[in-house]
Amino acid sequence: MKRYDKLYINGAWVAPHGSGYTTVYNPATEEGFAETCNADLVDVDQAFAAARAAFPAWSRTTAAERADYIRKLHAALERRKDALALAISQSMGCPLEIAKIIQVNCVKALEKFADRAFEMEVEKQVNNSLVVREAVGVCAFITPWNYPLYQLIGKVAPALATGCTMVLKPSSVTPLQDILFAEAVHEIGLPAGVFNLITGKGGVLGDAMVTHAEVDMVSFTGSTATGRRIQRLAADTVKRVCLELGGKSPYIITEDAPLEQAVSFGVKDVMINSGQTCIALTRMLVPASRYEEAAAIAKRVAESLKVGDPMDKDTYVGPMSSMSQRDTVLGYIEQGIAEGATLLTGGLERPEGLTRGAYVKPTIFRDVNNQMRIAQEEIFGPVICMIPYQNLDEAIRIANDSIYGLSSGVWAGSREEGIRIARQIRAGGCYVNGGDFNYDAPLGGYKQSGNGREWGDFGIHEFYETKSMQL
Ligand code: NAP
Repeated sequence: MKRYDKLYINGAWVAPHGSGYTTVYNPATEEGFAETCNADLVDVDQAFAAARAAFPAWSRTTAAERADYIRKLHAALERRKDALALAISQSMGCPLEIAKIIQVNCVKALEKFADRAFEMEVEKQVNNSLVVREAVGVCAFITPWNYPLYQLIGKVAPALATGCTMVLKPSSVTPLQDILFAEAVHEIGLPAGVFNLITGKGGVLGDAMVTHAEVDMVSFTGSTATGRRIQRLAADTVKRVCLELGGKSPYIITEDAPLEQAVSFGVKDVMINSGQTCIALTRMLVPASRYEEAAAIAKRVAESLKVGDPMDKDTYVGPMSSMSQRDTVLGYIEQGIAEGATLLTGGLERPEGLTRGAYVKPTIFRDVNNQMRIAQEEIFGPVICMIPYQNLDEAIRIANDSIYGLSSGVWAGSREEGIRIARQIRAGGCYVNGGDFNYDAPLGGYKQSGNGREWGDFGIHEFYETKSMQL
């Protein structure tokens, strides 16, 4: 068992004041393989004190200096790509070859954030006023376990670009890639205190982080339940709060869509990363006239995906991130059966040949009504709800009948029709006719999916204040 007994505070690896360790489990084997030390509230104070002390000098660096550090960091992470993919795969189950792409490719976005540092030097003259941009200050970052490196880069890169300093706490389920990231930070000689990493449980450290007097901004990615709590707690000191929360995204397939392509895209979109993707298109809305045809395609595609060992290069669906997440997902499958939805494929049994590990069969429910809990609540597993609709107005109404509004999808007969439908869906994103994920486009939610935007040009707006000087 590998033991990580230090925190990264003020430019050095230091022994924690807190005691004890948290075990990191491999969900494919259910065995612990690493331990990270537990920070306590004294460590939280020290980390934020370091970030506060570093802020004046770091926020006054030039954009060119910050861009140079970000480029060096990119190079240091490129050298660690294999180790990053392995750390993520072993701790949360994403198949290794897939993790190299969907989990680790995000490091390339650092180059773009190096360029965006220069946006901080944009000034605007408004009549007698000079309007400038300044870093928001010291940031508290809390990230989840499903795309742990992606969520780290989406916060840390714009924070560095704008001149913020920060303390990051990863999910205790997946802290290892963050430790590799901190090693890269140390290697490139980023000034002490700009980036600080503490490990430990969110339930223990979270409140202290989001209420801390030295914190100007909290950026949180995780569940809507935790996000609500963070917003309430941060309100007392009027911190800026950026929330990236859950989703239950609809996917409208129109009558004239190429059905084989559209359904296959939808099934693979949900099953990748074992359904643990916040933007997964988990509610598939299909015209009643083509429902049987679509159901047959969905069943065939889901059953063709190889479920198994994340180290096997042919595996598409690995285990859930943990046994407790498996229990949650199985609970929802039981719920769907009890609510009267029809199991088209998958279900409660273990996938064949997998006698241990947090595996769940790719599961599709048909005859789902949007009022059912399985259609309203985020399952965060490899589970699709197929919902029939009579006409497009009804499809759009069902799509919008959700507390969430993170992502959505449309596959229509033409791109123009797809865009027309996409504009009527109340969500922060829409995948039209199989469009690809784009690191340069903003990502964020409407409604209870959050209030922030990460990535792309918009991703740095969250991290600066604007000042007007009347001349
Ligand atoms: P979670 O339980 O809310 O945990 C997320 C993070 O919050 C973890 O670091 C966790 O630490 C920490 N935490 C737990 N209790 C806390 C508290 N009281 N105060 C402060 N922090 C606390 O969410 P999750 O189950 O890990 O993540 C899955 C969720 O994230 C899903 O809902 C998914 O949709 C959402 N998500 C959203 C986006 C987006 O961009 N909108 C992206 C990815 C995921 P510990 O793990 O140590 O407990």
